[in-house]
Amino acid sequence: MKAFYANEQKRHEPKAYLSSGTARPHPEKPERVERLLAGASSAGLAVERPKNHGLGPIAAVHSPEYLDFLEHIFARWQRIEGASAEVIPNIHPVTRNGSYPASAVGQAGYHMADTVCPISTETWNSALWSAWSAVEAAEAVKAGAPSAYALCRPPGHHAFADVAGGFCFINNSAVAALALRRSAARVAILDVDLHHGNGTQGIFYARPDVLTVSLHADPVCLYPFFWGYAGERGEGAGLGYNLNLPLPHKSGDAAFLEALAIAFRRIRAFAPEALVVALGLDAFEGDPFGGLSVTTVGFSRIGEAIAGLDLPTVIVQEGGYLCDALGDNLTAFLTGFGGRRGP
Ligand SMILES: [Zn+2]
Repeated sequence: MKAFYANEQKRHEPKAYLSSGTARPHPEKPERVERLLAGASSAGLAVERPKNHGLGPIAAVHSPEYLDFLEHIFARWQRIEGASAEVIPNIHPVTRNGSYPASAVGQAGYHMADTVCPISTETWNSALWSAWSAVEAAEAVKAGAPSAYALCRPPGHHAFADVAGGFCFINNSAVAALALRRSAARVAILDVDLHHGNGTQGIFYARPDVLTVSLHADPVCLYPFFWGYAGERGEGAGLGYNLNLPLPHKSGDAAFLEALAIAFRRIRAFAPEALVVALGLDAFEGDPFGGLSVTTVGFSRIGEAIAGLDLPTVIVQEGGYLCDALGDNLTAFLTGFGGRRGP
């Protein structure tokens, strides 16, 4: 299996975020890349640099207003007297029925869901290359590879069509899904990150051609708080095309694999022609977020089980934070997946 990653993805370096009102060091560190590259290499993957795919595949997911904001907001922010070194919003619209603001501060609040996705000078470029890694992996699968891995960083699954949030700016899994969708009638996205893939759900919520399935720790006291519950099933033409499987906190391998079996039934009934796996590794028992208790061996079983769907598959990196086993967990997933499916 090929892996895709560009060095520009490492330059985004958020400094701090607010958690329960307290400023803490930001956990989405560039060092994650080194661990994940080592993990992919240990699984025998060759890492290639993606091409510049332009804005086309990204504009298929995100609004032009939002992409213009992401590209230019840092420079605009710097012109505000006394502004912070990173773009961090301090006011948000409670509903979207007001007016679109003209100012940098107003637009930051409009397009950023929270304070954990600070934008600095390198953010736009890093996010672009992260998305292009996802596009390149999708193109490899469209060209006949049974699977491909995109080392996407910054991650993407909390980004909506016009809102950043939760360390995410461009929704790489959604970009990969729509790149696949150009030649596949139906595409499924299976999100196994610790956190609910709220942005991905939001992007496809009214669509019947992309099935979204997310396994995650119960959001009752975990980000993203407002989404991720079992009652969210889609709307309009997309009703019945979203499945959320929230798990009790600290659930381990057995509970995760049981929920995965339920996810597979829904995916098989959808008869997709391609699959995107939104691969968060933060469900790990030793991850700093500590929400679930999946083991390293568990990731191998999860990979093996997903391979059993026997679908052309793009694996997109989402979360998974600094801990000793981060690279090993990626190796375990890819080895489990590849062991059943072949290289
Ligand atoms: Zn996560």
